[in-house]
This record gives sequence, structure tokens and C-alpha cells, in this order.
Amino acid sequence: MPLTLSTELLSLRTRHPFIIARGGQSDYRTLMVRITDEDGVEGWGEAAATRFYGETLETVQAVLPRYAQELGSDPQQLEAIEARMFAAVSGNAAARVAISSALHDLVAKRAGLSLCRYWGLDPAAAPRSTFTIGMDTPEMVRRKVLEAEQYPVLKIKLGGDHDLELLQTIRSATDRELRVDANCGWTASHAVAMLPVLAEFGVTLLEQPVAPTDLEGLARVHRAASIPVIADESCVTSRDIARLVGKVDGINIKLAKCGSLREALRMIAIARSHSMMVMVGCMIESSLGITAAAHFTPLVDVVDLDGAALLSQDPFVGATIEGGQVRLPDGPGLGVTRR
Ligand code: MG
Repeated sequence: MPLTLSTELLSLRTRHPFIIARGGQSDYRTLMVRITDEDGVEGWGEAAATRFYGETLETVQAVLPRYAQELGSDPQQLEAIEARMFAAVSGNAAARVAISSALHDLVAKRAGLSLCRYWGLDPAAAPRSTFTIGMDTPEMVRRKVLEAEQYPVLKIKLGGDHDLELLQTIRSATDRELRVDANCGWTASHAVAMLPVLAEFGVTLLEQPVAPTDLEGLARVHRAASIPVIADESCVTSRDIARLVGKVDGINIKLAKCGSLREALRMIAIARSHSMMVMVGCMIESSLGITAAAHFTPLVDVVDLDGAALLSQDPFVGATIEGGQVRLPDGPGLGVTRR
């Protein structure tokens, strides 16, 4: 019997408007994907579409029936199903990863293992996660830093008009470790000029200072920097890694960019073969999407999986980052349950 696919709309709200260099909002809609096999076993995944990568909730809803035609009847055929979906419609990464996640959930459940253990990984090896402080007024930034008291590593969104003020505000409120994401908001010259400022404020990592296609700019910043420079928007899938070698210290993998859990593992392997650092990030998504990424965190160096922790209510219970430490559920599959 063929696998069946059904969906459910999820309405998510962040505790505060989540603002980065490209703008921001409080209300997000994602789609839960449920794949059911002939025995009624279900696998779950989440599609968190972002306009920046060419997807919306509507494009996800439009393309899923096409992908559903490629499922076949054997969920164990992960490689073949993903290849067929990619051949059918090669974009739509958030839609594809919801299916990839649901299939992995399903096969690991059938094996009676958490996905992490199904992959042969040690859940205790998962690193700490950062918690992001989005752009805001000084007063709100101070409040957010206080609210984020339990997280030992903070990530700050820069690349706007008030970078220095934001750094000063956060540093006056906490002595915790700070990492910076400029979300393509700087030119290479400005980024190089910002390096001593970042050093003064004790920033330990810089993510995507310049535009996605400005690889020479990334290389300039990387050469001048004494902290790791990580490519996020410049690194969407494994095919982007070769041209980044020597130009950055590492890459940031996000499932909604790369479209598949298997592709995420390929990206890790390729980055490691070039001695690059590996980071895993997320979109604003519920614990369902976050947990799919959390299962491969034992393989990475830097984790930024705060998407569900930023929500005021989360429809699912899964991986957590309480106290900053990534903790994986030990139930079979993703181990995600309804709240
Ligand atoms: Mg980023």
C-alpha cells in the first residue's frame, strides 16, 4: 500500500517580534506533514518556508501533492524517495525537508530507535545552543537579555543602523559569550572595520557579514578576522561548499535551506573533508522542525536551534535547549509528541 501524506497548518507566535537585518514579524505559519504507512505508523515533519529562499506557506501547500506522488510504499527507501522528489521539483527545500523528516521519523520509529541512535550517534555529545536576541530598542534588548538568563551563549543580530548601540546595550547587560550574525547586512569594508569593535565587545564568532554572492568579500573578512567567520546565506546546499573552501571557517546548515536530512549529513561530511567548522541553525519553527535538526547535532561544532525557544507557545514537545544544552528526546523516531 502506498504511503499517504496529510498536512496540518501550524500558527506560531514569537514572544517578541523577531527582527533581523531584513525585517521581522511575530506571526509565523508553518505546515506539519504527516506520512502514514500501511500499518498506521506515522512520521512527522515541519515545513518552515521563508521568502528569502523563495518559499511561502502557499508554495509548500502547492508542491506537496506533487512530492506525495513520489513516496511509493517503502519508507526505508530514503535515498531513492528523496532523489525522486528532487528530480520532480528541485527547489522547495522547506517542503521537501518536511517529507524527509517525516520519513526519517517513520523508519526510526519502526526500528524502535531515536533518530540520533538510528544514525549511530551519541545524544550526550550534542553541544550547547545559542539563544538569539533580535534587533530592538535598547530597553527591549535589555529585557530580552534578562529573559534569556538561562542561556550561556547569546547570538546578536547586527547589520542594521544601530549596531554599536546594540552591542553596547547587550554588553552592559551581560558578560555572557556573544556571537554575531550580520545576515548579509554589511559590505566587506564595513565588516573589516567592525572586526576590532567586535573584538572589543568580546564577540567570539561572526556569521554571514556580507551578501550571499560576495564570496571574495567573505574571504576578505575571513583573512582579517581572528574569530571564526561562518557562511549561512552563502551556503544553501552541499554544492555551495567547494567554492567556500579557504574563504570562511565554516558553514551553517539549515534544513529549510538544504531540503533533506540526508543532504544535511552530506554537507557535514563535505565540510569536514575540508576541515571546516559546522554549525546548524534554524528558522522560526516549532519543536517538530527543531528536533529533526537536533538529532544530528552530535556531529556539529556550533548549534543555534532556538527557533522553538523563541515562541510564546509551542504545539510540540521535543528537543530542548534548557540551560543552553541541547537535549534530545529518547523516544523512537524524532521522539516528538503533541503538547
Ligand atoms: Mg544566520
